[in-house]
Amino acid sequence: MNSLDDFARGKLAGLEARDLRRWLKPTARLDALHLERDGRRLMTFSCNDYLNLSQHPRVRAAAKAAIDAHGAGAGASRLVTGDHPLLSELERRLAAFKGAEAACVFGSGYLANTGIVPTLAGRDDLVLMDELVHSCIRAGARLSGARAMTFRHNDMAHARDLLAAHRGAHRHCLIATDGVFSMDGDLAPLDELTALAREFDGWLLVDDAHGLGVVNEGHGSTRGFDTPLQMGTLSKSIGGYGGYVCASAPVIDLIKTRAASFIYTTGLPPACAGAAIAALDIIESEPELVARPLAKARLFTRLMGLPEATSAIVPIVVGAPGRAMELSRALEAEGFLVGAIRPPTVPEGTARLRVTFTAAHPDTEIVRLAAAIRAGLRALAA
Ligand SMILES: *Cc1c(COP(=O)(O)O)cnc(C)c1O
Repeated sequence: MNSLDDFARGKLAGLEARDLRRWLKPTARLDALHLERDGRRLMTFSCNDYLNLSQHPRVRAAAKAAIDAHGAGAGASRLVTGDHPLLSELERRLAAFKGAEAACVFGSGYLANTGIVPTLAGRDDLVLMDELVHSCIRAGARLSGARAMTFRHNDMAHARDLLAAHRGAHRHCLIATDGVFSMDGDLAPLDELTALAREFDGWLLVDDAHGLGVVNEGHGSTRGFDTPLQMGTLSKSIGGYGGYVCASAPVIDLIKTRAASFIYTTGLPPACAGAAIAALDIIESEPELVARPLAKARLFTRLMGLPEATSAIVPIVVGAPGRAMELSRALEAEGFLVGAIRPPTVPEGTARLRVTFTAAHPDTEIVRLAAAIRAGLRALAA
């Protein structure tokens, strides 16, 4: 035994005692809806592949064609020799789709936010965030060295109070929110946030990882708003991997010349860029497909007697981590995979099932899932 292993074992035992240890479970994806785990075939209601594009024949073919034409990897940082033409094409497509002047593609959504925030904010600045923003925005805020503050979830009066009290003491102010909140599925009030940002000269960053391809005909939650920083990922409805931000040309030029998570990391592999372009083609040409995840989530909220879904994500909050795990296990016995989400991913006391809907989910299975969740909740209460 040494002190490092002692430390790790002690930490793990403490987490396990609170039902907070996390386990990897080998899971093979069989098709758009099914996974294999422990030799069992399960229907997933946990993937963020809202349009099932990770499995789409045209997206797969585009990834393969990019590998055959250009190889498996980018070979270097984009600023060295990794600036593949497919990446610039993807950036033009993203900017056009989001109604922005320019775009920058990153290795992932996580890398995007940890690069964007420190590029735009520093020691003399304020970063004001919704308390439920994704972990990578918080990480970006910490890296930036700016004064970081959070407002209560979607509470515009609180955001206004904090801006009124603290904006004046700081040079610049970045205001960050998720467009669609990843663990709750609700939307940020972008009309009010846009107005607040304008009033206090704040720069609004909207992380729309779960909005792209799902809300506003797939254009995402920022459509119709003048959002200077539209960030998102290629790993959810786009079905592949990578992150992006759309903004004005000077802002994108600055990010490409200063963001550490852009400069000091290898460019996205050609296959990811090729697949993302093919996925955007589908999103832009198949509105009927894009409408489906939200319609499926709304069928579920109707069946459950919940408020109407506003995105493809519906939480079933049960409180204690052990209860969420038990409910998830009960659903697995019925052939459904619905992940239990526990602190610190969500606030203490709000462990939940996070149910996500995709275009391909049959209505009959959504009916069966709702019945199984109701039965599971009754069993928990008994
Ligand atoms: C998933 C997610 C990210 C991270 O994106 P990756 O491409 O998976 O790294 C960032 N923000 C939000 C809100 C997310 O849900």
